[in-house]
Amino acid sequence: MSELQALQQKINYDKTFDCVQCGYCLPACPTYETMERETHSPRGRINLVKMVAEGKASVQDLEKPIEKCLGCMACTTVCPTNVQYGEILEGAKEVIEDHQIKSTSRKKIEDFLFGSFFPSGKWMNTLGNLTWFYQKTGIQALANKSRLTKLAPLHLDKFEQVIPQQPSPKERSKRAKRYKRKRPAHAKVAFFTGCVMDSVFFETNQNTIELLLRFGFEVVLPEQQTCCGALHAHSGKVNESVELAKRNIKAFEEEEIDYIVNNAGGCGARMVEYHHLFEEGTTWRERAEQFVSKVRDISEVLAEVDDLVFNKSVDRTITYQPSCHMTNVQKVKNPPLQLIKDVPGITLKELDRPDFCCGSAGIYNIVNYEDSMDVLDVKMKDVCGTNSESVITTNPGCLLQMKLGIEREGVTHTMDAVHLVDLLLEADPQQK
Ligand code: SF4
Ligand code: SF4
Repeated sequence: MSELQALQQKINYDKTFDCVQCGYCLPACPTYETMERETHSPRGRINLVKMVAEGKASVQDLEKPIEKCLGCMACTTVCPTNVQYGEILEGAKEVIEDHQIKSTSRKKIEDFLFGSFFPSGKWMNTLGNLTWFYQKTGIQALANKSRLTKLAPLHLDKFEQVIPQQPSPKERSKRAKRYKRKRPAHAKVAFFTGCVMDSVFFETNQNTIELLLRFGFEVVLPEQQTCCGALHAHSGKVNESVELAKRNIKAFEEEEIDYIVNNAGGCGARMVEYHHLFEEGTTWRERAEQFVSKVRDISEVLAEVDDLVFNKSVDRTITYQPSCHMTNVQKVKNPPLQLIKDVPGITLKELDRPDFCCGSAGIYNIVNYEDSMDVLDVKMKDVCGTNSESVITTNPGCLLQMKLGIEREGVTHTMDAVHLVDLLLEADPQQK
């Protein structure tokens, strides 16, 4: 196979022919709207991929437009010819990664984050514990007062402002790995804790376990589980992403369970596509298909519970910001809305453009901060227009991004961002 043929295979050249250049995807694309350039639209990106595959453009020409894609997949929902943009995007990212044309500093950060940080439960716990120490001992207050936080790289000062109060290391370490069902009936589930979710939103994870137990599920947390690999795949690190998928498949198949439940839209979206990582007819493909058949978002599981009642009224006006990956990849749309509507006291104001990405997109908001904020500003205009007191969402990245948006808009005194699970528990649900 020639070098060009190998490149064409990796970059999914054959799939670019499904694009008929109609442009229906342009109004759906957040980066086309904020950057106003054809090369930063789905159609433009597909064209560039095709040109690179034909040797008419270089991989360098592709780097920026692909790096600036949020991977939100809004384009795929409006495409009349069903272009497999996700596969084209991942292929392009892999080719860029192979060509090693990222800056050295960015590569170093990525190698540490993807190789050592996200896949390690210990690292993620340590991050949570260090954050607790930073918040609890007054160092955070001092750093903010003296404006030392402004020296943090990658705009991390903005993110540290919106990270919730962390539980103590003792509370973290107390978490069990197995929870017996509190009432008869229902299934046994394994809870996928996630890396960022478990580190930054540990209490939401605890609340997820509590909800499952209230409705009679037996819950296990497989010890060997690891990061889902979404962040790796979005960065072109396909081999690492496959290794993480294998680790998770192995960890979860050691338990006899009915469902693998998660509460992070981006992680769920990665996990429902694990089978695509393996060749048809292989054992790994079969094992992945078994795994995928059990993956559920927490909202899907709860929406199916019969006789669910809420004891408390939550008298608030809220809006719902769906996670792009949960909607466009997992195709989970109605269960979160159905649950929100069931909570007594809630006034739901729907967004004009719920399908418009918030700009979080994995670590996009860290590595492309300014571009991400341009997208966020469009989103916040819509959110603020609803005059809501809370924005509900279902993914850690979206949650942090909405908190950032609320800060940027200067409305922290009237609005907050809340995970769906926390909202549901606030309403004190039970099964009749
Ligand atoms: S909508 Fe689909 S076919 Fe039309 S330009 Fe966009 S990707 Fe191509
Ligand atoms: S994935 Fe999102 S940002 Fe990327 S081209 Fe499609 S709509 Fe645009």
